Parts: sequence; C-alpha cells; structure tokens
Amino acid sequence: MEQVVIIGSGPAGYTAAIYAARAGYEPTVIAGSVTAGGNLVNTTEVENFPGFPDGIAGPELMERMAGQAARFGAKLVFDDVVEVSLRGPVKQLKTLGDQTFEASAVIVATGSSYKELGLASEKRLGGRGVSYCATCDGFFFKGKDVVVVGGGDSALEEAVFLTRFASKVTVVHRRAELRASRIVAERALAHPQIEFAWHSVVADIHGDGAVEGLTLRDVRSDELSRLDAQGVFVAIGHTPNSDLFKDQLALDSDGYIIVDGPAAPDDPVNAQHQATSVPGVFAAGDVVDRTYRQAITAAGTGAQAALDAQDYLEELAADAAIAAATV
Ligand code: NAP
Repeated sequence: MEQVVIIGSGPAGYTAAIYAARAGYEPTVIAGSVTAGGNLVNTTEVENFPGFPDGIAGPELMERMAGQAARFGAKLVFDDVVEVSLRGPVKQLKTLGDQTFEASAVIVATGSSYKELGLASEKRLGGRGVSYCATCDGFFFKGKDVVVVGGGDSALEEAVFLTRFASKVTVVHRRAELRASRIVAERALAHPQIEFAWHSVVADIHGDGAVEGLTLRDVRSDELSRLDAQGVFVAIGHTPNSDLFKDQLALDSDGYIIVDGPAAPDDPVNAQHQATSVPGVFAAGDVVDRTYRQAITAAGTGAQAALDAQDYLEELAADAAIAAATV
C-alpha cells in the first residue's frame, strides 16, 4: 500500500513528486510507457521557464525534473494506468503492464493531447505527411513546402521551427487575428519563409500514400482553393486526458477535471485547492486547466496538489491516532 501515487510525468506530475518525496512519502509516479515527460518532450526550446535565462530544451527540462524527483526518493514506473477505482479510502490502479497499485492518495496529472481536424484524409495520411509534432518530424521535410494549421503559440512556434527544413511554410488560420502571444506572432509574421492563409480551414488533404496538397475553404465565402504541400502540421490545441476518470471524478463539459480552487474567505472547510470530487484524489496541470496551460503553471498546481495530499494524509493519520487512543 502506497501513501501517494501520481499519474503522469509532465511538469505537474514531477513537481508533485518532488514535493511529496521531500515530505517523506516516497511517491510512485506512473510516468507513461511512451509518453513519459509529457508534451514538453516534443518541444524544442523552452524560453519562459524561470531559472533558465538562456532557455532549455524541453526534453532536457523534463529529464532534470525526473532526476530531481528520483533524488528525493520518488519511484518512477514507465507504464500506463488503464483502470482506476478511486472511491473509498483505498484507491486502486491497474496498468497496461498488469501491475496493481493501492494508495491512500492519488494525484492525477495526466495532461492533455493534441486535437485532430477530424478529416478522414487526416487519419489516412497520419505519419505519411500529416503530423502533430514539428520537432519530431520536421527533419523529414527538407526542401519541401509544408502547412501548419492553427493560430496559437504552438502553431506559430512550429511554423518558425519548420523554416529550418522546409522551403515554405503556410500557416492556415480560421480567422485573421492570431491567438499567439505578441512576441511569437511577430517572429512568424516577419519571417520571409512564412506565408499566411487567413480566414481558412482545411477541407481535405490529398495524396496517395503521401501528402501532395490540400483543399482550403475560405470561411467567409465558402470558396475552395488548392494548395500544394508535402507536409501538414496540425497545431489546433489540446483536449484534457481525463477519459479514464469520467465515471469516477466530476468533469466539466469539455472533460477538464473539476477541482475546488481557492477557498472563499469565509469558507474554512475548503483548504485543498486541487481536491477533486473524491476525497483523497487531487488533480493538477493541464488536465484541470483550460486557461493558462503553461509548464510553470502546471508545476505550480502540481506543488499545490502534493501539499493538499500531504494535508489529507496528515488528517488520516491524526484520525487513526485518535481512533487507536480511544480503543
Ligand atoms: P491554443 O492557444 O488553444 O490555439 C489553438 C489554435 O488553433 C487557435 O488559433 C484556434 O483558432 C485554432 N483552432 C482550434 N480548433 C480548430 C479547428 N478545429 N480548426 C482550425 N483551427 C482551430 O493552443 P496552443 O497553441 O496549442 O497553445 C496552448 C497553450 O499553450 C496556450 O496557453 C499557449 O500560450 C501555450 N503555449 C505556450 C508556448 C510558449 O509560451 N512558448 C508554446 C506553445 C504553447 P482560434 O484562435 O480562432 O480559436
């Protein structure tokens, strides 16, 4: 029986592990079999994580967090949780590798996954020119023309990154206003290899075995146009990884896990901000956050979740001591 099990190994999961380990709970982190390190593993340079004035590569940042957690006694398990039973005092988790874990407290930090366009051709050409990760696949598009779909920070960072390989990058965005932060947007807008297809969405992706081009639809006129390209990078945001918990924890309409949040001044009961609808289960990072979704904010709520779990475990221990004394 573990005291704390943490599901997920992005900034939230590892920060929760560092805090829980330093509190002496020897937490187990179920880090994922192929996705350990979370989304930052697919990022090139992280320039806004405090403490790294010259930036740091995403994978290296995650390795450092894992090492820091392990140094204080966190156990890292590279497996995937496939089944949970969270109600009651003993939480049970089963993994793809057939391991079972029992814990008094669980911290869910499962993050989010990329959104798809929802086209049949996108599925058919996945891995054959359609990609969701420029840092993973950009190298294969040397001297080619590629498209990036989306107008947020991810899309524009990917667009700029892809100019290292591609001869031309066209950003396809459904509005004429970018969602990306100013510095990222300005870098992309000023780049000589980046063009923009405004007010446009991808209606279809063409190619037999490899991407050859796209049909774009102008959302104002419904007019269709053809764009030749050999690669399509979809960067239209993420959805929370909460499917595993949908029958166990309260989720909002988009699938984000609902947590208590800050206490009202006259509400002495609500002290655990990251508490979910089930006692002893806490959630942190992108799986609870539809607003900020930054590495640093995920790390922050990860720390909060660990402190909340500590509070919960101390209450359990105090209740057990009182019960023992009154026997
Ligand atoms: P995002 O900010 O949610 O942007 C998604 C973009 O895709 C938006 O421009 C959106 O259009 C578009 N979009 C959504 N659904 C679409 C669809 N079905 N078809 C076509 N376009 C669609 O997602 P993100 O760029 O992945 O960023 C997520 C968070 O991570 C943000 O908070 C961002 O600031 C952060 N981030 C930060 C950095 C950094 O600081 N270095 C890097 C990457 C990400 P609309 O604009 O019209 O809604």
